[in-house]
Amino acid sequence: MHKDIATPIRTSAILKKYGFSFKKSLGQNFLIDTNILRRIVDHAELTEESAAIEIGPGIGALTEQLAKRSKKVVAFEIDQRLLPILEETLAPYPNTKIIHQDVLKADVKGMIDQELGGIEDLMVVANLPYYVTTPIIMKLLEEKLPIRGIVCMLQKEVADRISAKPGTKDYGSLSIAIQYYTVAETVMIVPKTVFVPQPNVDSAVIRLTRRSEPAVSVRNEDFFFRLIKISFAQRRKTLLNNLTNGLPDGKQKKEAILSALAQAEIDPGRRGETLSMEEFARLSDKLNTEFS
Ligand code: SAM
Repeated sequence: MHKDIATPIRTSAILKKYGFSFKKSLGQNFLIDTNILRRIVDHAELTEESAAIEIGPGIGALTEQLAKRSKKVVAFEIDQRLLPILEETLAPYPNTKIIHQDVLKADVKGMIDQELGGIEDLMVVANLPYYVTTPIIMKLLEEKLPIRGIVCMLQKEVADRISAKPGTKDYGSLSIAIQYYTVAETVMIVPKTVFVPQPNVDSAVIRLTRRSEPAVSVRNEDFFFRLIKISFAQRRKTLLNNLTNGLPDGKQKKEAILSALAQAEIDPGRRGETLSMEEFARLSDKLNTEFS
């Protein structure tokens, strides 16, 4: 039996041995609590037939727990200094593979075909670097990868926005963008004390389960997402105000906007944050021909 990587003593010994210094700019906050890691992995519901894709393995704390509970783990790590460390810490786990690459530039689909072909159940599991949480999640969803979902640690404040429901202060374009592709739940709140160094913000783990079809069907997906951004541009303004300001020639085309709102049965005096995704979809289909 090997000692787990994610204990304060083993982590500090590894960091000391390699003279590793944390780079804040890369969001390096490593987990030092094996119980928390096991609970994160529990939420991914992996089996011996599953594969896990990890973003940012650090010194391998989560990678190790994933390797114990799945068939194969492939992890993308941007920081070259971590490669020799990972080679040592993950040596007991031949079912792990590290790819030295910025995940935002990586061909994740190509990697899946090459490394994980034949494995049906794929999950992304990660303790994300907080400076790029949203771009990473959006990349994984927009590329329509063949994954069952994503279980990841991120800032609690972002987790709240991702899983927010209409009419709440946290509900916005990010909630809709992510809930369009997935069912989003916050499954754990994680204290700062289980990281080195401790982050400045509170953390949470979310589970995003990919939908077989998007939550709503729209004629023009690009326009739908543009409409949502416009509708939340100024949260305190009414929907009509944001639409006339944000849509091309919106001020001149106010009558067309009012007519589309009426056809979609949406009161122009409402604020964007009160509209459900279904209402945005209806409005998008009415406005699409005039404005896209
Ligand atoms: N998984 C480890 C853990 O839980 O202890 C480390 C998590 S730490 C929050 C984030 C990791 O992501 C770091 O190892 C960092 O170097 C890496 N990273 C940062 N930006 C990245 C990027 N764009 N692509 C891949 N890895 C990245």
